[in-house]
Amino acid sequence: MATGLNAERYLPDKRTLPVLQKAVQNCHGCDLYRNATQAVFGELEAGSEGNRPVAVMMIGEQPGDKEDIEGHPFVGPAGKLLDECLQQVGIDRREVYVTNAVKHFKWEPRGKRRIHKKPSVQEIKACRPWLDAELEAIRPRLIVCLGATAAQAILGSAFKVTQERGKIITKAGLPPITATVHPSAILRTKTDEDRHREKRAFIADLKKIAALIA
Ligand code: SF4
Repeated sequence: MATGLNAERYLPDKRTLPVLQKAVQNCHGCDLYRNATQAVFGELEAGSEGNRPVAVMMIGEQPGDKEDIEGHPFVGPAGKLLDECLQQVGIDRREVYVTNAVKHFKWEPRGKRRIHKKPSVQEIKACRPWLDAELEAIRPRLIVCLGATAAQAILGSAFKVTQERGKIITKAGLPPITATVHPSAILRTKTDEDRHREKRAFIADLKKIAALIA
């Protein structure tokens, strides 16, 4: 893929959420739009108008198969697990804006299935202007990076989620940032024991976030 990819020229002058959500559908800032059904922009809850105050902006990697088809972020299995864990720690889902570092689904065929493929550094960088526009539009009190790609987009490639999860990081021009795993990592664990352990650790991170925004 060529370098110099950037979404900036596709951003509208007026950068409210509804305008951004519409404009992202025309983005050709990198090649990922070619094989995706649609761009999936951030939102509070599936289909919401996005007019509530936002406490937390949670950033994942990219839309999955279901998100790509439905056009909403975090509506697949990982989103369901996130909702369940948020509820468990008492974080009001209506105050959580969910989005992804990359707005189009990157995948490769395997038989009849579309298998998730990790976005490249260039694609993550190309899509960053949309993330910045979302941050500017919703002004969250806290950013939570879910997984390595989101952490890379916000904190740079030197940041290691495994070593620094749960820490509060400050960065000029941004609200406080913290990082934890992506809920899909919990779903990918091989044994029930691993899954329960990872889920407990994720819930522990969310509890700290709940205390921060209380
Ligand atoms: S992934 Fe981002 S930069 Fe690439 S085409 Fe989609 S919206 Fe544009």
